Amino acid sequence: MTNVYCIVGNGVAGDAAASVIRERDPKSEVIMFTEEGRAFYNRILLKEFAKGKLGQDSVVIRDEDWYLNRGIDLRLNTRVVKVDSENKILKLHKEEDQKYDQLLVSTGGTPREMDVPNSGAKGIHHFWTMKDTLEIRNNAENASYGVVIGAGLLGIDLAAICGAQGINSKYIMRGDGWWRSALSKVGGEIIHKSLRDMNVFPIFNKEIECFEERRGKVRAVVTTDGEKYEADFVGVAIGLDYNIELVQDTDIECREGIVVDEHMFTGVEGIYAAGDVARYHDVIVGEEMQNGSWGSAKKQGLVAGENMVNGNDYKKFEWIPSYSITHFEYPIISFGHPAKGEKFLEKKYGKNEWRRLAFKQGRLIGGVLIGDVSSQSRYKKIIMEKMERVDRETSILDKKIDLESIGVRKT
Ligand SMILES: Cc1cc2nc3c(=O)[nH]c(=O)nc-3n(C[C@H](O)[C@H](O)[C@H](O)COP(=O)(O)OP(=O)(O)OC[C@H]3O[C@@H](n4cnc5c(N)ncnc54)[C@H](O)[C@@H]3O)c2cc1C
Repeated sequence: MTNVYCIVGNGVAGDAAASVIRERDPKSEVIMFTEEGRAFYNRILLKEFAKGKLGQDSVVIRDEDWYLNRGIDLRLNTRVVKVDSENKILKLHKEEDQKYDQLLVSTGGTPREMDVPNSGAKGIHHFWTMKDTLEIRNNAENASYGVVIGAGLLGIDLAAICGAQGINSKYIMRGDGWWRSALSKVGGEIIHKSLRDMNVFPIFNKEIECFEERRGKVRAVVTTDGEKYEADFVGVAIGLDYNIELVQDTDIECREGIVVDEHMFTGVEGIYAAGDVARYHDVIVGEEMQNGSWGSAKKQGLVAGENMVNGNDYKKFEWIPSYSITHFEYPIISFGHPAKGEKFLEKKYGKNEWRRLAFKQGRLIGGVLIGDVSSQSRYKKIIMEKMERVDRETSILDKKIDLESIGVRKT
């Protein structure tokens, strides 16, 4: 009998799973659903398109024919409303129900809107899809004053877009620094200076009160202390709500995202989750994690795809995520889980060169490297090998870290 594999989501996780399923089970039926109107593209490059540095074609990864030629039935503009796990059926918003034998939920997240007056005004942007990006680019090319809200990885992309498009901007943050859960004041200040150099001025310790609009278009951002910042371009990046509504009537456990084990299996017959939406058991750190990065989502999709074909516990997800930022004249890389540490060690080596490492129970679990990122693979090795008591090793911050000299035991 032909197996029917359904994949909800045509992002990197879904695409990776579909590719591996097609390879391992060539006779099966593979059906993918996406709410978007175009086939899989590169979200990572959207910022370069929005900055005006790349053309729209550069973000294309697949066209519809790619799937067609491989016998993968890609259904664009199709929302899966509900999973009926008892009967193994998907309810769709427009077509007839779809039966499945194995299901992957790789639905990612949706940017959260601010819950303040006029947050739906024109000119206020969220950043996730190509549709968002086209709107951002159109507005950014003509805007004079910008405000960016949200001191995280998508916030800095919006700030860099303002810088590249010559929009005189304020970058409003709730706390006293950019990505303050992973960077200290010292590391943060390197970034703040580079933002100022591109005419994007960080403003700290502010909460948003409301947006002001005229004829439906944003014209200012007001903070709770009564300050008003003129803006005809606003970028909001205050986090994601994970797309889990479709499984909410099932026995699948959800905590912000969909809980899976190290095999990306939900525990409910035939159902897996992968990518940004998955809360997985991290075998390296030994606890439940959720991660929003391209490489991690791809790997999870591959693992889920293999296990959907070969059985629940065939492959394990063992991966150290990393995320690189390329907006400035120096590189930045974060790896592992830099914001989850109990203890941190850091060092500044030069004007734009700095490192901070995060430790939990004596083990390295992540870090951020600014300037010289060449030690990333050595740090990843220390994490992968679960070396203990490395938080006591001052040589772990040596510019060219010598793994031998760390001399620690494996668990
Ligand atoms: C602007 C931007 C820049 C980024 N930069 C980086 C970077 O530099 N480095 C990095 O590592 N990561 C980066 N990321 C994060 C990275 O892109 C994500 O981690 C990755 O794309 C997640 O892939 P995914 O497949 O889990 O989900 P997504 O790519 O979000 O795909 C989800 C899919 O599910 C579909 N969907 C959702 N709900 C339904 C439903 N009910 N029915 C049908 N379809 C549904 C959507 O239409 C979509 O096709 C960036 C993200 C963005 C938006």
